[in-house]
Amino acid sequence: MKALYLYDSYLKECKSSVLEIRNEGTQIFLDQTVLYARGGGQPTDFGKLVRASDNAEFSVVNVTKVDGKISHEVDKPGLVTGDAVRVLVNWDRRYKLMKMHTAAHTLASIMHKEKGVLITGNQIEEDKTRFDFNLETFNLDEMQLLVQKANQALNRNLDVKTYFLPREEAMKIPGVVKLAGALPPEITELRIVEIGDVDLQADGGTHVRNTSEVGEIELIKLENKGKSNKRLYFKLK
Ligand SMILES: [Zn+2]
Repeated sequence: MKALYLYDSYLKECKSSVLEIRNEGTQIFLDQTVLYARGGGQPTDFGKLVRASDNAEFSVVNVTKVDGKISHEVDKPGLVTGDAVRVLVNWDRRYKLMKMHTAAHTLASIMHKEKGVLITGNQIEEDKTRFDFNLETFNLDEMQLLVQKANQALNRNLDVKTYFLPREEAMKIPGVVKLAGALPPEITELRIVEIGDVDLQADGGTHVRNTSEVGEIELIKLENKGKSNKRLYFKLK
């Protein structure tokens, strides 16, 4: 199973073949895919599988990781092992998620550099993103200033690079793994996402090629969830 989006997030379709079927024909495992399996705060891609022999279409409604493999949940049974298919991504949704993901890394990095904030949870969506973070006190003006700094960084038209490093080498970069405990020992190579001089971390998500594609971050609201537990929502305009 090759996750092609890890190498090129701009691929909108690929040829593939069905390796395995589960759940009465509704769970499809392919030899390669362009559809993102949800994880790391980024939700599933939607898309479709089109069978080469008769152009029959199967909508992909959820993509997840199951037993270390990527599972495509489709709307109806009918595909069989060995079928040749085309895999197409709902690009409109995906591109919005790519912009959001690059924006999220940029803002998180500014929050960390300026205030020592650590993001404890995040959920990216097409129209908004949620950050949970640890900070004792905050106010709207202070957070607006951080958003402004993130927008200044995005406005510098920074290239976003993704590449792979051997685990040993990657782990020498301070702070490269944001959730250290979550890294399984069998992973020998880390995918690095580098946003200019603003952020560098191990990440499996899809990102734009340049921050000029992102647009502008706009704070929607702040919430106080406890003593050192805060939440914010932002969107892109
Ligand atoms: Zn990420």
